[in-house]
Amino acid sequence: MTKRVVLIGHPVAHSLSGAMQQAAFDKLGIDAAYELWDRAPMELAEAIAELRTEDFLGANVTIPHKERVVPLVDRMADEAHATGAVNTITREGKKLVGHNTDVPGFKVALDKLVGRQKMPRHAVVLGAGGGSRAVVYGLIREGFQRVVVFNRHLHRAEAMVKHFGKSAAHMDLRAMPWHESIIEAELAKTKVLVNATSIGLTTDESPIPAEILMPDLMVLDLIYSRTRLLRDAESAGCAAADGGTMLLHQGAAAFTLWTGQPAPLDTMQAALEDARARGWRSAEGEPAADAEPATDAEPVADAAGA
Ligand code: NDP
Repeated sequence: MTKRVVLIGHPVAHSLSGAMQQAAFDKLGIDAAYELWDRAPMELAEAIAELRTEDFLGANVTIPHKERVVPLVDRMADEAHATGAVNTITREGKKLVGHNTDVPGFKVALDKLVGRQKMPRHAVVLGAGGGSRAVVYGLIREGFQRVVVFNRHLHRAEAMVKHFGKSAAHMDLRAMPWHESIIEAELAKTKVLVNATSIGLTTDESPIPAEILMPDLMVLDLIYSRTRLLRDAESAGCAAADGGTMLLHQGAAAFTLWTGQPAPLDTMQAALEDARARGWRSAEGEPAADAEPATDAEPVADAAGA
């Protein structure tokens, strides 16, 4: 019987994880189908309960449910527990386990961005949502000594800093209000900038002005496209990378959790590139009405980072 894996989000009209995961199942001859479930917050508990049957290998969870799903699973794996966010669910009998594969996905992306240079110790993170939690936890684990989180709604960044209280006790993790002059002052002391906001996902906007990007900065945008921030960073002489590596590796880690097999990375990468070439975007938070693929092919994409 064909096993089922679902992406639960709202909306999930358009994303890339489906293309990537289905290609991986097909490549390894695993009889499984990846489905997109658009479920409003009120329907979340019911959707999660459905996963407890034999039919399901598990699920991905994306915007806006990554934090809401925490009380609905039976057990949290270490990285999900540490971040307070779940993007992958596995089934053990009737029990559900929450995982956060954005954390290992971010680690691969950071290592690739830094390359052969010495790992920096100071970072600025823009955004304080589910993706940011994986980023900040990854930076703490990597041994960063100062991480400053800016968010439009400061209280959300403050809540995140509080959440990481114990694991960040040895370092300087702080939330700061979103003012350009403060961001500029912090960037002057920083080597790594991560954009974990969704600014640039659906519009050609950058979260920060180009003038404050200095050439020695390394810039990672979690969005899987060549955003304005990345173009500005390249023009300023910075090293810059989009969210493709993180998307691929969070997906690969989820695949291994569901199937127990190493993920066929080349196949998944090719599926991602193919979907992107067709005009499919990672589209977390994008209204479903905007989410028509560029071709008349069946839309597979979901919501980035799922
Ligand atoms: P959330 O909805 O949890 O968080 C969104 C963040 O963006 C919040 O910090 C929010 O600020 C901020 N934001 C949104 N709009 C604005 C705006 N107009 N001005 C200022 N700030 C704004 O989403 P996620 O954390 O899950 O995802 C964030 C981004 O990261 C998305 O683009 C997603 O695609 C990407 N992502 C990519 C992954 C990958 O694998 N490459 C993995 C995970 C995420 P506020 O709290 O003030 O509303």
